Amino acid sequence: MADDTLWLAVDDQGQPEIFASVQGEGPSLGSPRTFIRLSGCNLHCVWCDTAYTWNWEGTAFDHETGRKFAPENERIVQTIDEIVSRVADTSPSGIVITGGEPLMQKGRLAPLITAIKEACGPVWVEIETNGSVLPTRDLIPLINQFNVSPKLSHSGNDMAVAQREQSLTAFAALPSSWFKFVISEPGDVEEVLRISDRYKIAHDRVFLMPLGTSSKDIRDRSGWIIDKCLKHGFRFTDRLHIHIFGDTRGT
Ligand code: SF4
Repeated sequence: MADDTLWLAVDDQGQPEIFASVQGEGPSLGSPRTFIRLSGCNLHCVWCDTAYTWNWEGTAFDHETGRKFAPENERIVQTIDEIVSRVADTSPSGIVITGGEPLMQKGRLAPLITAIKEACGPVWVEIETNGSVLPTRDLIPLINQFNVSPKLSHSGNDMAVAQREQSLTAFAALPSSWFKFVISEPGDVEEVLRISDRYKIAHDRVFLMPLGTSSKDIRDRSGWIIDKCLKHGFRFTDRLHIHIFGDTRGT
């Protein structure tokens, strides 16, 4: 692959998954953003809602849907110029680089963001990451907000990989980092408490988010998760895009 190219996920029309919407989760919930979804992930969460970015045919990773994807149908190589052109068409005030795990392609992100800023002006930049991959030094000052979502044991990952000490220590020390945990059961919050204690993450930098790809699943978990937020001083985040668009690509 050339130095100026990245793997992107594709949408339902087979086009690179670059789209304008509102941020559905976390500290910028409701803010207009242009999303760039990169393909590939180093983790393999059993409930991942973007398994089409990594769960390729022929791999042994478990997923609750049992579904596998053909990489030739689900990802596309794009040059930085091609990505910038599509992003500029949305006249963004902010961008979100998501995945998959976008930091798997971290060496290409600083040039991409620099090119987007040259074309679009001083946009707000968010990266959504699982927190297990260190960002590059040149990338950190370009990012306004890291949305760090470390995966808990219910994700089915090897915790030594998913909760990598070196990277969580680095993200915890960055003022631009916010933390978001997917919560399935009340016991998951005990795990969040251990992580926030271990890495000295203030509770008001931590969001608890219900697991769910339907409004019903999210609502069923929201009440007791909000009780946990009130008890421990965590923040709650909804999944706005699920309520509005459902579990669909390009939203
Ligand atoms: S880290 Fe994110 S993209 Fe990767 S498998 Fe887990 S939920 Fe999916």
